[in-house]
Amino acid sequence: MDLGSLLHLLIPSWNSVAILAFFFAYLAIAGSILPGKLVPGAVLQDGSRLHYRCNGLISLLLLAGILGAASKLEIISLTVIADRGLELLSTTFLFSFLVTLVLYAVGCKTSNRSSSLKPHLSGNLLDDWWFGIQLNPQFMGIDLKFFFVRAGMMGWLFINLSIFARSIQEGTLSRSMVLFQLFCALYILDYFIHEEYMTSTWDIIAERLGFMLVFGDLVWIPFTFSIQGWWLLSNKVELRTATVIANCFTFVIGYLVFRGANKQKHVFKKDPKAPIWGKPPRVIGGKLLASGYWGIARHCNYLGDLLLALSFSLPCGMSSPVPYFYPIYLLILLTWRERRDEARCAEKYREIWAEYRRLVPWRILPYVY
Ligand code: NDP
Repeated sequence: MDLGSLLHLLIPSWNSVAILAFFFAYLAIAGSILPGKLVPGAVLQDGSRLHYRCNGLISLLLLAGILGAASKLEIISLTVIADRGLELLSTTFLFSFLVTLVLYAVGCKTSNRSSSLKPHLSGNLLDDWWFGIQLNPQFMGIDLKFFFVRAGMMGWLFINLSIFARSIQEGTLSRSMVLFQLFCALYILDYFIHEEYMTSTWDIIAERLGFMLVFGDLVWIPFTFSIQGWWLLSNKVELRTATVIANCFTFVIGYLVFRGANKQKHVFKKDPKAPIWGKPPRVIGGKLLASGYWGIARHCNYLGDLLLALSFSLPCGMSSPVPYFYPIYLLILLTWRERRDEARCAEKYREIWAEYRRLVPWRILPYVY
């Protein structure tokens, strides 16, 4: 494809605007009215707490049902996202850009002093726009940070499914495509089953909402995490049975470590006495968990996520680095993030954190890093 046609495909159309508008409107309405567990967020500096309605799974299943029915009635085509991938990408990018300008302007004007809405201005416009100035901005009662993460994770699944539909339509469905689709779908469904764990993650509790997070959620996650699927549409890979088994093994181990570690921390935060792997937990200074996965490495959850990311790319074989974009990016991101989190925790927990470091010397991968 030459540059001219590529640029042409990137031009946003009214159709892509309509698809995005429908998606956001659906999520806003479904998120507000569908039933779901109301989960209290972390206690903020001023002692307040936000509450999150965790109804992502039911919203996702209902949307899948609506789209399935609409396609049966020939109102929409299941390949519409795959067919309009590039224009949807540029439309979402423009949306992220505009919405963060609005967030910046509204944030600057606010006189609200609560921990959620108080503006944090560094005076550097670019920095403030990039990192955001408010912790938890809202729109019509919707917590925007939680909303955008949900949109990004769901968007990723629907892009994948549309690619899947296209590969069936083109008659190119392969073992590789099935494995890639299966692993990603399980990961995303699992994310929504455990959506409440998201409420205690770094993004939600510590990161302000600026372009970095909005772009990351809406553009980066759905459009770059699906690269393997786009790649498989035009590349054929022959997978041997042994490779398929090794691939499944990587996924299962990655999943157990990722979900196990995140679950242990979440349970510990709610009940610091809850047993870990059947034994009373080892706790440092009454605040830090040092048993289970958190006694193996200080960020074992990142290790699990990295193995999962690798399992999403292994179905593409080794002939090209392109499908490995996601695991490579994640390795860089999580190493950087681990350093930032380490600095935050060292400042927050001081001598308790130093004790934890002594007890658990490995950052992510025991005996390596
Ligand atoms: P964590 O969920 O690991 O949260 C870090 C926080 O947990 C710390 O700031 C601290 O917060 C608390 N904490 C750290 N160590 C301990 C301990 N030993 N005992 C008790 N509390 C502890 O990090 P993230 O939010 O970065 O990641 C959450 C998940 O999301 C991970 O599995 C990660 O892999 C995944 N992720 C995936 C990305 C992707 O692009 N696929 C991007 C980013 C994250 P506190 O002050 O509350 O104690």
